[in-house]
Amino acid sequence: MSVVAIDQVHKRYGALEVLKGVSLSVEAGQVVAIIGRSGSGKSTMLRCINGLEAFQSGTITVAGHEVRQEAARLRALRKDVGIVFQSYNLFPHLTVSQNIKLSPTITQGVKPAEAEAIARRVLAQVGLLEKFDAFPDMLSGGQQQRVAIARSLAMRPKVMLFDEVTSALDPELTGEVLLVMEQLAKEGMTMLLVTHEMSFARRVAHVTVFMHQGKIWETGPSKELFEDPQTPELRAFLSNGVK
Ligand code: ADP
Ligand code: MG
Repeated sequence: MSVVAIDQVHKRYGALEVLKGVSLSVEAGQVVAIIGRSGSGKSTMLRCINGLEAFQSGTITVAGHEVRQEAARLRALRKDVGIVFQSYNLFPHLTVSQNIKLSPTITQGVKPAEAEAIARRVLAQVGLLEKFDAFPDMLSGGQQQRVAIARSLAMRPKVMLFDEVTSALDPELTGEVLLVMEQLAKEGMTMLLVTHEMSFARRVAHVTVFMHQGKIWETGPSKELFEDPQTPELRAFLSNGVK
């Protein structure tokens, strides 16, 4: 059964049509990489999936929730969808564990002792248990991004969305974040990730989607897509590197 089902979604910003009939289905445990040039609609698609952006037509269903701009629906939806961005936005005045406990405590009414246990579990998952009481500014960018992933995992999402989570990091710090994502994939997390890391997409994603001009231009098993691109646009994208 699909965890994410996107059907003929059209999205406009004023006169600018950004998604031109996008359809995509993601099965439980599947890892889907989304690649494409800047401006091709990748972030917009992710933001539509968890209701951060409204769309004009088509349907999106995520873990049984039909995505619509109604407050109660959005709250229910977001309990099941985690999203991590390029900027990690941890609260600087709170410790790592306090950052992680905030959402479960406030939005799910989790009791302090349980929140503590959750924080330990998710920090162990991203390999940062020893930073439990550290403040964010004591951590490297890579470690902060791993905390942001842990914070998202604390909500026990059924699907995780990642939007260029390593793009703001120095090259030597991207590896540790990608490793955490690969581990999550191995644990069976359903994931959609927008990435410029082509070798990661090829190796870890079951399916890669190439977006171009607001459309899914080409998609397939990652290995096939990278080894044997069918369209001139994807061939050009892969040979020119990322823009
Ligand atoms: P990508 O993530 O692939 O770089 P985006 O989804 O961010 O692309 O953007 C797709 C298009 O939508 C771009 O042309 C961008 O300028 C436009 N866009 C994105 N957000 C907005 C917005 N809030 N208002 C108007 N146009 C936007
Ligand atoms: Mg983007």
